[in-house]
Amino acid sequence: MNSATGRKPTKQINIGKVIIGGGFPIAIQSMTNTKTADVEATVTQIKALQKAGCEIVRVSVPDRPSAAAFKDIKAQIDIPIVADIHFQADLAVAAIKAGADKIRINPGNIGGPEDIAKVVYAAAAADIPIRIGVNSGSLSKQVRARPASTAEKLADSALENIGLFEESGFDNIVLSVKSSDVMETVKAYRLLSAKTDYPLHLGITESGTLETGAIKSAIGIGLLLAEGIGDTIRVSLTAEPVHEIDIAKQILQALGIRRFNPEVISCPTCARCEVDLIPIAEQLERHLKTHSKLVKVAVMGCVVNGPGEAADADIGLAAGRGKGVIFSRGLAVKTIKETEFFAELIKMVDEFEVK
Ligand code: SF4
Repeated sequence: MNSATGRKPTKQINIGKVIIGGGFPIAIQSMTNTKTADVEATVTQIKALQKAGCEIVRVSVPDRPSAAAFKDIKAQIDIPIVADIHFQADLAVAAIKAGADKIRINPGNIGGPEDIAKVVYAAAAADIPIRIGVNSGSLSKQVRARPASTAEKLADSALENIGLFEESGFDNIVLSVKSSDVMETVKAYRLLSAKTDYPLHLGITESGTLETGAIKSAIGIGLLLAEGIGDTIRVSLTAEPVHEIDIAKQILQALGIRRFNPEVISCPTCARCEVDLIPIAEQLERHLKTHSKLVKVAVMGCVVNGPGEAADADIGLAAGRGKGVIFSRGLAVKTIKETEFFAELIKMVDEFEVK
């Protein structure tokens, strides 16, 4: 474990212009859900993801038209692009030739050793990494038949495939071992992390719709990150992909690993609250997501915890009956009316100088 970062040291891998592992920041990934052959729609979605904070994008390449479109997509975007390939090694080779910055294959379904060798040879020639992405739903028949837990099967499958790649002299490798079961996934990554130094891409696969998926991902990815495990993350949601970026950022920010936006601390309200606090907190949080100033803003409903929390934050509001006290760097600076809360807090954030 690196004592400065609390992270397990891993091998440094370049994915286009983004470096993962080796102590570099944990990168946020997402995946398009447009038809890849529709270049315009896919480029539009990638640009929206990039604007939201996506640092590496993955695109499915299920057929020849998708492989053909890959080159045009790559030419119109400026974040690294990963080709996601299942079943056909030839499509991986085509995507590599079309400029993929990384290939993700699932060894359980890509074919035999000859197919893997074909992909490895093309990736080595292009000097790009391959993610060996093992999923519980597509473990090979032989692995599935073993008397072991799903976590052990996932980790063993990844380790065995590393062996195949290394035999060909290829070590430009990223690993993932995903399952839709949160704790099986966590156990699999722990096993894998103990046995290899290749960077790990974290995610809970098929985690569900926005709320369910966000919770499962926050628990699974969060547990691992808190143990120093993981180099890139993807929050998989049955939702517009752009939500994946927001949740990923929130996970990293809640753990104090990376910060992106102001942090809003707000109380749950109770019978003591004498202002309409919930819409103010919601409106403030929504608005501050567009800010990059790294301040902590507390919005509290009464004098029980209000002054303490408000004073501990960079900027705070401790509400009373129809009014509230504004704090800046721990000092009460003014009392304002309830109707002024939102505008005043935004103004305070705009004027706040981060030291
Ligand atoms: S800060 Fe006050 S209003 Fe908010 S939950 Fe605590 S006691 Fe209730």
